[in-house]
Amino acid sequence: MFDVNQIRKDFPILREQVYGKPLVYLDNGATTQKPRRVVEVMNEYYLRYNSNVHRGVHYLSNKCTDANERARTVVRDYIHAGETEEVIFTRGTTESINLVAYTFGEAFIHAGDEIVVTEMEHHANIVPWQMLCERKGAELKVVPFKDNGELDMEAFAGLMNGRVKLVAVAYVSNVLGTVNPVKRIIDAAHAVGAYALVDAAQAIQHIPIDVRELDCDFLAFSGHKIYGPTGVGVLYGKRELLEQMPPWQGGGEMIKEVRFEKTTYNELPFKFEAGTPDFIGVIGLGEAIEYVKSVGLDEIAAHEHGLIAYAMERIRQVPRIILYGDAPGKSSVVSFGLEGMHHFDLGTLLDKMGIAVRTGQLCADPVMSHYGVTGMVRASLAMYNTEEEIDALCAGLKKIERIFKM
Ligand code: PLP
Repeated sequence: MFDVNQIRKDFPILREQVYGKPLVYLDNGATTQKPRRVVEVMNEYYLRYNSNVHRGVHYLSNKCTDANERARTVVRDYIHAGETEEVIFTRGTTESINLVAYTFGEAFIHAGDEIVVTEMEHHANIVPWQMLCERKGAELKVVPFKDNGELDMEAFAGLMNGRVKLVAVAYVSNVLGTVNPVKRIIDAAHAVGAYALVDAAQAIQHIPIDVRELDCDFLAFSGHKIYGPTGVGVLYGKRELLEQMPPWQGGGEMIKEVRFEKTTYNELPFKFEAGTPDFIGVIGLGEAIEYVKSVGLDEIAAHEHGLIAYAMERIRQVPRIILYGDAPGKSSVVSFGLEGMHHFDLGTLLDKMGIAVRTGQLCADPVMSHYGVTGMVRASLAMYNTEEEIDALCAGLKKIERIFKM
């Protein structure tokens, strides 16, 4: 049974007060809070077992190596990958996408090729492709979205042709909350001989993901958005592609043999994990996923689904509110503005009421341009949020609206 009050007890920070008011944390799209057991397991490893992985023969090193590799199997099972070799640990979604842009880009992208993204992407899923296009003389094509936040699938279909080599798309928009039809997109990409990358930064914590069912070629996410630590993330890639891609960063652990004449590279996944990894972060990520599984992702999704519907209905009632993104089935993000008020002022006033939201261009400038605004305010939800917190947000907005009516 999903019991939000019980879950809240696992997150000590939720009992904090800010400016003498109870914290209402609605900035989960930026980063989620951590359950006690994630922090505890990381502390335990730092305090009792810390030692570098994959290099030692001694007890501590083996202990950390085993835990690091166990976390890899936890991730593999969570996203239903076929093999642990297809799970590469990175610093986060951004690094995962850059890895693909550099190494897949190096091997597979040539002058005249096309890479397709959408207008609603996070900058992390735009800029690496722009840089790749510049390096290779390829062209970036953009699928527009409709004003309600839905992707324009007709326009997408119109962009599919034999020149397209990669389609890179967010599973869930971090601004609009739109859940994109990624399976359809992946199938359409494959039909013209292109590969598909899914940016799952805003999906991994809300939606069950099966990479084999989706048949995506790459999938990227960050640990800190799924109740895990910062500084660690995942790139899933199909083995046959990863095998064909050259390594990215050179250094320790990604090599088999180093000779001045010629160096040979390690097996997957280590080929893409140069240097000392954030193994304690990886262990924390494994624990975070175990935590999510113990609560139940389906139960979390059902709770958040109810909460987003409640939030949309309640926020709509605030006078002079402007809502951005209302696609059917949208996920746990509500972005808005208040007529005549700067997003930064709105966010600052909410902060003084103890309500943490994100303001600004939300790392998605093209979405701001679509609506002709310089920024928005975003409330984003997690498993531990409640209807009372949505009520607090709406009461805060109504108060601000009343005071600044003139
Ligand atoms: N993609 C999306 C959709 C995001 O929401 C984010 C972060 O907000 C990122 C990519 C980048 O994630 P990170 O900063 O953890 O690398």
